[in-house]
Amino acid sequence: MNILKTLNTIAQCSQPSQGVTRLPFTKEHKQANKIITQWMKDAGMQVHLDAAGTLIGTYKSSNKNAKTLILGSHQDSVINAGRFDGIMGVLLPILAVKKLHQKKTKLPFHIECVAFADEEGVRFPTALMGPQVLAGTFKMKDIQFKDSKGISIQQALNNFGGNHRKLNQLKRSKKSIIGFVETHIEQGPVLEKHKLPVGVVTGISGITRYICTIKGKASHAGTTPMNLRKDALAGAAEIIYVLEKSSNNEEHHYHGGERPKYS
Ligand SMILES: [Zn+2]
Repeated sequence: MNILKTLNTIAQCSQPSQGVTRLPFTKEHKQANKIITQWMKDAGMQVHLDAAGTLIGTYKSSNKNAKTLILGSHQDSVINAGRFDGIMGVLLPILAVKKLHQKKTKLPFHIECVAFADEEGVRFPTALMGPQVLAGTFKMKDIQFKDSKGISIQQALNNFGGNHRKLNQLKRSKKSIIGFVETHIEQGPVLEKHKLPVGVVTGISGITRYICTIKGKASHAGTTPMNLRKDALAGAAEIIYVLEKSSNNEEHHYHGGERPKYS
């Protein structure tokens, strides 16, 4: 199998756009799942769609009571995404399993290769539904979130072949799982800078968003001396600068020379 060619083929499961635009529970998602299903079958796996819309290929151990190693990534994309984001991490473990299958190798644990439906949170104002359901952290009220056309996750999921009523049955017990491994393209420049083909992470960034309001004080533009002004934008700029500086490290250096000094 030519991996680049294969990824180029599935990249065509996209809304018309400059890059790949494949949102969860859409016809493009359905097309992609059809292709991924074939990859999984070719690798000797049993395939099913779980109630959260995650496509799962299973490569069973001969030991029935074995634990499971989960491998995979997301099939969905942001708008105008690259061709490898997510989907490469779906394909790669399937190819690894295919090697095992061809050699008729059975492992002392089950393997599940997963293609999550919605990792990016582009269509609905929530993300990571598939993994959250497996981890048992999904909040059922989120099922009512709607997309821009007023379609709820519940409707979209059920129309796609999922079943919101069964979501709480999907939680995996920690005892049954060995771990989850995801291969993903690097979306930053660090490996490229160090000319490394691959990296193994020790952690990933946790994203937290806040909304804050910075209040300034209106005063006359001509007669208020600079040191008596309270310009909200200037205050915001200082906050942004300090935040950026405090998270600075070797890999997050400034480009374009020294920043002005603030006290
Ligand atoms: Zn991704």
